[in-house]
Amino acid sequence: MKNIAIAIHGGAGPMSDFIYEYKEEYKKSLTAIVQAGHKILVDGGTAVDAVYETVRRLEDDPLFNAGRGAALNSYGETRMDAAIMDGATLAAGAVANQHHIKNPIQLALAVMRDTPYVLLTGDGLEGLRKYKNIDKISMSHFITAHQLQKFFDHKKGDGHLTNDNPFFTRSTKSMTGTVGAVALDVYGNLASATSTGGADYCLPGRVSDSCIIGAGCYANNETCAVSGTGDGEYLMTGLTAHTISMMVKLTGLPIDTICSNVIGSYPEMACDIGVICLDRSGAISIRFNAERMHRAWIDVAGQLSCF
Ligand code: ASP
Repeated sequence: MKNIAIAIHGGAGPMSDFIYEYKEEYKKSLTAIVQAGHKILVDGGTAVDAVYETVRRLEDDPLFNAGRGAALNSYGETRMDAAIMDGATLAAGAVANQHHIKNPIQLALAVMRDTPYVLLTGDGLEGLRKYKNIDKISMSHFITAHQLQKFFDHKKGDGHLTNDNPFFTRSTKSMTGTVGAVALDVYGNLASATSTGGADYCLPGRVSDSCIIGAGCYANNETCAVSGTGDGEYLMTGLTAHTISMMVKLTGLPIDTICSNVIGSYPEMACDIGVICLDRSGAISIRFNAERMHRAWIDVAGQLSCF
């Protein structure tokens, strides 16, 4: 059988009391989900199928800041971004600021498969939802007690919009729990998917890197598949996922050397950044500069690892 491999992440960032408390639950969830993704590959499913299904399951798990469990913005609303990319065709689909359907990655896949576009938002998404007959869901589905508490903590702290600059929230950005997956299938194809609830208490309308192809999500059979997490503004301005892919193409160096160099190029104190990366040989690289990154993978030998 040809090489298959899969890696998933549940976000990079600082440790928190919540993460300590649910340490075992995180591991259990990541293990079950990476195994489910691996089974799809073993059964002859495509890399796109595997990353789609793993991200969909991660969105359903309230431990992660994606789908159910998404962060609340400064209006107390959930707004989610997601993206998926097929390394075989370079087709991609992404959605920004979506809040109507249970699984944002489902709409991202629909953008990729059913439209000539890459990134959709607003009315276009609503039309696509209707076209695909996907049920609308109430925002209350996404809001967990944990995220609600964080919202109120920000609100009573110094996170209010300031008078002198209404577009600046004073709260320090806290992003944690974005999810992503990269996979290599039996046909030798790579794919990547990423989904997020974004940054806590951010200004409504902020868009994250997770739905920007080349920033938080990228896949190309010629090079590698990448899913990113961390401070989105850095991933966007660094075009992190595409940079890694381009370095693979231009240097031919092992992906771990490249990921380590790219992550090392970010000012450590200024931002938290993490990536999972997989190439066509099945090599996996996971690099981050944050205190922790939830991650799990099954390599070409079928060996499972979870942290
Ligand atoms: N990248 C996401 C964002 O900027 C957050 C994360 O990965 O934790 O919203």
